[in-house]
Amino acid sequence: MLLPDTKRILLKLSGEVLMGEQEFGIDPSYVMRLAEEVKAAKETGLQICLVIGGGNIFRGMAGAAQGMDRAQADYMGMLATVMNALAMQSALEQLGVDTRVQSAIQMDQVCEPVIRRRAERHLEKGRIVIFAAGVGAPYFTTDSGAALRAAEMRCDALLKGTSVDGIYDSDPKRNPDATRFDTVSYDQVLASNLKVMDASAVALCRDNNIPIVVFSIRERGNVARVLAGEGVQTIVKEDQ
Ligand code: UDP
Repeated sequence: MLLPDTKRILLKLSGEVLMGEQEFGIDPSYVMRLAEEVKAAKETGLQICLVIGGGNIFRGMAGAAQGMDRAQADYMGMLATVMNALAMQSALEQLGVDTRVQSAIQMDQVCEPVIRRRAERHLEKGRIVIFAAGVGAPYFTTDSGAALRAAEMRCDALLKGTSVDGIYDSDPKRNPDATRFDTVSYDQVLASNLKVMDASAVALCRDNNIPIVVFSIRERGNVARVLAGEGVQTIVKEDQ
């Protein structure tokens, strides 16, 4: 096991991974592939909370850069995360995995509101809980939402699946000599401004001692591989 005594994890997927090879939006076949990954992770016996970003549809910062009101644009971004959550719920259900979506912006016809005790009950019953709409407030990201839910649900770790296989000392897409950290402390991530999650998310994990595992979700079977300690990743944790 990568992290011994891990019973409950929060898995954060950036919205971008739902696009597959597309430039924008949701590729249902790719969502199904991701759902298979989540199912495999669940079959290792873990309780799973899921948070999905919205960057494949809309990011508030991009809207604001084009002259929109930032808060308004952020609300649009939060709604995008709900669409992604529903797409993932549909794929997981097709695979026979029970799920519930809980949104930080109430929309009763579509999904449940975030109710911690109810989410606990879902997890105990073996359901996956997908938390949507981040923290429910503008000027945040779904990384902060993921950290918040991980703390609230007392998750043993936050796994962040992205398109890179860990945290590097510089951008590996631009610098061929960039090197990947196996482990790195929260404070180093913050002090060196390493691009992994926004500072509020990292600080929340630090203050609640939740390790962050950054890994690539693009390779098949990687969630289960990383959890088994056989994958490539960076772990952000307290200095030993
Ligand atoms: N967002 C927000 N508050 C939150 C979570 C998300 O305002 O608590 C908005 C924000 O505009 C963000 C967008 O939703 O850009 C999509 O989320 P994010 O960029 O975190 O998605 P990801 O990069 O993970 O795909």
